Amino acid sequence: METEKPARRRETEDRRNEGIASGVEGFNERARRAVNDQQLHDSIELFTHKSVAGRNAVLNALPEAPELRERAYRIKQETMANLDRYLEQMADAVEARGGNVFFATDGEDAVRYIGDLAREKGAKVITKSKSMATEEIELNRRLEEDYSDLGLEIVETDLGEWIAQLAGDTPSHIVGPILHMNRKRITEVLSRTAGEELPPDVEALGSFARRRLREKFVTADIGITGANFGVAETGTVATITNEGNARLVTSVPPVHVVVMGIEKLVPRFTDLSVFVRLLARSGTGQKLTVYTNFITGPRGEGELDGAEEFHLILMDNGRSKLLGTEFEEALYCIRCGACLNVCPVYRQTGGHAYGSTYSGPIGAVITPLLKGQGEAKDLPHASSLCGACWEACPVGIPLHDLLLKLRNQQVEEGLAGKAQEIAFKGFESTMKRPVLYRISSRAGRLAQKPLKKDRPLPGPLGAWTGSRDLPPLAEKSFRELWKEGI
Ligand code: SF4
Repeated sequence: METEKPARRRETEDRRNEGIASGVEGFNERARRAVNDQQLHDSIELFTHKSVAGRNAVLNALPEAPELRERAYRIKQETMANLDRYLEQMADAVEARGGNVFFATDGEDAVRYIGDLAREKGAKVITKSKSMATEEIELNRRLEEDYSDLGLEIVETDLGEWIAQLAGDTPSHIVGPILHMNRKRITEVLSRTAGEELPPDVEALGSFARRRLREKFVTADIGITGANFGVAETGTVATITNEGNARLVTSVPPVHVVVMGIEKLVPRFTDLSVFVRLLARSGTGQKLTVYTNFITGPRGEGELDGAEEFHLILMDNGRSKLLGTEFEEALYCIRCGACLNVCPVYRQTGGHAYGSTYSGPIGAVITPLLKGQGEAKDLPHASSLCGACWEACPVGIPLHDLLLKLRNQQVEEGLAGKAQEIAFKGFESTMKRPVLYRISSRAGRLAQKPLKKDRPLPGPLGAWTGSRDLPPLAEKSFRELWKEGI
């Protein structure tokens, strides 16, 4: 397979990580580049507009949607309160069906388990279906680097993920990994892989992808998937897809490995009836995705399909430290992508500006929580706090509240800039003292006079008014009008 990776992908990732860690390039710089990219803007608008319209239509046609949302929240709340018990139950159920279970403390653990398994099996080709958990731990890159002696060929088989992999790129949306690419770019990437000029035609491009990927499906030694849900009661893993690739990844190779974040658990099989109805509707505006797969352990006696070996990796990677904290609700996420589609910030910048695997409102919350505030401290500020994300979230996660709490934590830990701290302290004391408030309102009315005509603010404050209106303060305050008997 001809790809621009791993060197370019590594470079892209390294640049992002360096930017975050060093503070040299943060969200603002990346966002500035993104908002000036018209092609990117058009692609995001096309995708998010269609997704939001589809979501609204199917949810409006489901009268019990608000009740399902409430139930989803309660189920996740109960799961997190008893996570240790449910994890044990899940592990026991998988082992009882002949599967193997591994608890991975972090990404390194998970990579090591898979790499050692690949060595033991003499694997050469690994097929993967879309999995945010494996993106989070950079599984492909780490396997290629740490197990380079095995000469592994790791192939993403979700069409969007495959194209991103061929381009040496990373996904920019939880559900639409290459929404940032237009047809021209996709044609270029696939033509280079084909070694010939392909027509920019959906049928032709799709047919080329199908031919190439089928070769990989039939030769794969190991198939790796994520899990949309894991059912503690039965040990079942649910994968919810639209392309059918997950079925080929889980049933053709002799070994199937699932990498699942521990928060993906639900206690009972019947709980799936709540989440499955919400997930596709919220993410893609479908009543149901095309393929909804339930896999319980390896192929049993007399069964026609399924892998001979089944391995479930239950990955923590920073999640358990959120249990019982004010940030626990971040673990309720089912990765539907709805909050990204409605977010006014994401819709301007796209996913790469966030510099992390998870983007949009949930990315702005979960990235600092998993990586540490020091590594992604600008992300909680990448929000207007309008609350659209909370309204769209099928589990009712109060993302805007969590973002505020993260900002608050930054102040408490001394991570916020001095200027910000002084500004907010000043604001607080003004709002607490009526006399000060009246004086500052009058001062504000006087100070705005020279600006009244076209209203741009001077100096660095002009960055704010460059793309926004600044409504003038009223000539008279409500209290003054009240005194005058309005
Ligand atoms: S936070 Fe809510 S809306 Fe956003 S991806 Fe997760 S479940 Fe979907």
